Amino acid sequence: MSLYRDEGVVLRAQKLGEADRIVTLLTREHGRVRAVAKGVRRTTSRIGARLEPFGHVDVQFYTGRTLDGVTQVETIASYGANLVHDYARYTTGQAMLETAERMTPEEGEPAVQQYLLLVGGLRALVNAEHDSSLVLDSYLVRSLAVAGVAPSFDACARCGSPGPHASFSISSGGSLCAADRLPGSATPARDTLQLLGALLTGNWTVADASEPRARREASGLVAAYLSWQLERGLRSLPLVER
Ligand SMILES: [Zn+2]
Repeated sequence: MSLYRDEGVVLRAQKLGEADRIVTLLTREHGRVRAVAKGVRRTTSRIGARLEPFGHVDVQFYTGRTLDGVTQVETIASYGANLVHDYARYTTGQAMLETAERMTPEEGEPAVQQYLLLVGGLRALVNAEHDSSLVLDSYLVRSLAVAGVAPSFDACARCGSPGPHASFSISSGGSLCAADRLPGSATPARDTLQLLGALLTGNWTVADASEPRARREASGLVAAYLSWQLERGLRSLPLVER
């Protein structure tokens, strides 16, 4: 049995038997890890409460034959305590945790960019630095970008000609020029595309100044694009209160 240490965010916790729990974490060094935490559902367990979703923790793991296990847990930050009293921000956070899991399909495959994006997104959400819907959409488009599948909000996704362009196609990777436009393309407003570009690059001056109409249209396009990219849509995204 060998030990390793890492920090991570708890994405999910499932009951196992009478007293144990299986936790899914996105860690800095080891990517997504599923591990068993023994005895944590007993009331005397000190580490049980630290292994709730949204917990940002420093963990000592041991390697197991089928599943790794958790031996020690220290809390770095507990984002859940802050989110639990605000339904809109809580559901936003849930959608971020689910996205982080879906964007790291291979267990144990290092995904440091996805990890840093998640921690940054949860911090922004907890600190209420920006509208929570903008924080979510920024997180989603940047997570897609890290995965190498971000849509184009400016240049034509087919021929690369510089935008902005009037047409936007979910299945063709985003903006399309007049020559490449496909039937059934969306025609988002110019300031919606500008907002989406700002969310992708982290230009919060532009994003914070955006109009509600552009925000709604941008959220709709991001949700449609994400569910097209993922085999199954996110369960938690339709539940986000906007
Ligand atoms: Zn084109």
